[in-house]
Amino acid sequence: MVLQLGIVVPCYNEQEVLRETATRLLALIDQMVATDLISADSAIYFVDDGSKDKTWSIIEQLAGQNTRFHGIKLSRNRGHQNALLAGLFGAPGDALVSIDADLQDDISVIADMVRKHKQGAEIVFGVRKARATDTAFKRGTAEFYYRLLSRIGVEIVHNHADFRLLGRRAIDCLGSYSEVNLFLRGMIPLIGFPTDTVYYDRGERFAGESKYPLRKMLSFALDGITSFSVMPLRMISVMGLIVCVLSFFMIAWIIYGKLFLSSVIPGWASSIVAIFFLGGVQLLSIGILGEYIAKVYLETKRRPRYFIEKAV
Ligand code: UDP
Ligand code: MG
Repeated sequence: MVLQLGIVVPCYNEQEVLRETATRLLALIDQMVATDLISADSAIYFVDDGSKDKTWSIIEQLAGQNTRFHGIKLSRNRGHQNALLAGLFGAPGDALVSIDADLQDDISVIADMVRKHKQGAEIVFGVRKARATDTAFKRGTAEFYYRLLSRIGVEIVHNHADFRLLGRRAIDCLGSYSEVNLFLRGMIPLIGFPTDTVYYDRGERFAGESKYPLRKMLSFALDGITSFSVMPLRMISVMGLIVCVLSFFMIAWIIYGKLFLSSVIPGWASSIVAIFFLGGVQLLSIGILGEYIAKVYLETKRRPRYFIEKAV
């Protein structure tokens, strides 16, 4: 069976890299078509995430030059994850590979992904072998973050970003997740099905600069925690409980002091008991409330994730 492959590329202000990326991906697709790995109607889908530079006009030009190039333009910047989703839901194909526009991920493993998909893996994760090209800071924080996530019960594939192949069934399943706070790295392992992994070396962005400043990265990291785990709230409850228990020991100790020791300052006992006990009760209550509010919050907003302005 020859399969129709789509490559989805989210682009935000990527005018410096786009043409080169397009050329490299086109060569790859042509080569895979020539070796009968994928069908002749396989194509590349650029998703313009509300770029402010010439990204969209470059995409239009590319689409005019070659029928393998397509473009989807979002109505405004909605962020990498939403742009990715727009591509996954908008592009046809038996399988879709998602990859960043800067080609930091090694495109030559895409053929392996397709082969593994044909061997039965519904999802194929691209995993970085080493992070040699990242700064020590990015490497360290990422390492810590992935550890933290798995400690609080968020299932993710270690050292895997959004470079992966999804089969049509997996994409349809992804479509039935209606959450708005997207953290695809956490959602996709939840889908299940047989999965496989390909390993590659991550290179450097060959032009342009990172579209993920620290601020965006932090909010993305926080999303990963709050959309997949209620552990932080639970920790508040646990803390409240501990304080409550401790306050009982305090009470016992204070009563003992009152009855049997003579050196207690008047008034100290009653106020300190109240402070400790109420503090504990309050933290516990806030924790419990928080559990419910978090659930309601996550479920209710249901805002649309993106709007498509036009497509070529
Ligand atoms: N991106 C996007 N919308 C945004 C920010 C980024 O579509 O609001 C795209 C960007 O064009 C690139 C990918 O997400 O294709 C990853 O961004 P980048 O390479 O800048 O992140 P880094 O590799 O530095 O983490
Ligand atoms: Mg990058």
